[in-house]
Amino acid sequence: SLFKEASFYISVNKLIDLPLHDGVEIAFAGRSNAGKSSVINTLTSHKKLAFVSKTPGRTQLINFYQLRSDLFLVDLPGYGYAKVPIEIRNHWKSLLSKYLQTRKELLGLVLIMDIRHPLKDLDLQMLNWFTITDKSVHIMLTKADKLSRQQANITLNKVTDFLVLHYPAVSVQLFSSTKTVGVEEANRIIKCWVDN
Ligand code: GDP
Repeated sequence: SLFKEASFYISVNKLIDLPLHDGVEIAFAGRSNAGKSSVINTLTSHKKLAFVSKTPGRTQLINFYQLRSDLFLVDLPGYGYAKVPIEIRNHWKSLLSKYLQTRKELLGLVLIMDIRHPLKDLDLQMLNWFTITDKSVHIMLTKADKLSRQQANITLNKVTDFLVLHYPAVSVQLFSSTKTVGVEEANRIIKCWVDN
């Protein structure tokens, strides 16, 4: 898999500090506590590559992990945590939107959502910022183990119907970090982006 050799590369908190390299980047984003760190740890089979938060909203840096000499995983700061002061929230909003809209090396965005709370306002804002670039977007509905198989599929179908209508190029899948559901599907989709 693409993710097997992941190692920490650099953390930045300003656009000007974004690293120079000859590769491409796959970004992961999501509301804080959606399960993004767990997704990254599961895909890379690292228990602690990305910090799994006890305090939501804690990851305030853009963390880069190197997957290959020409491929980087970019862990974007979680959004939507109510206790973050407004100035910091605005800083991150501007950083995220600028990174997503202007980063040439960025190949695609993986949006992580808790399957029990999909497509919140800030998730739609991320989609709106990014889909104008015409780059690939994939949604992972994680914590699927928290619902019955039937409930999970009902949510998957509802989200799919919404995307077909409003964001037809965006794909979506079920995922669970605790039950390792959806790892192969995520690998396959991201590999397609990288190989194209
Ligand atoms: P982040 O803030 O988006 O990086 O979210 P974390 O990965 O830190 O996860 C937030 C909380 O959800 C933690 O308590 C995790 O143990 C839990 N969690 C994450 N993924 C899953 C999952 O697939 N299933 C279950 N049951 N819990 C999960």
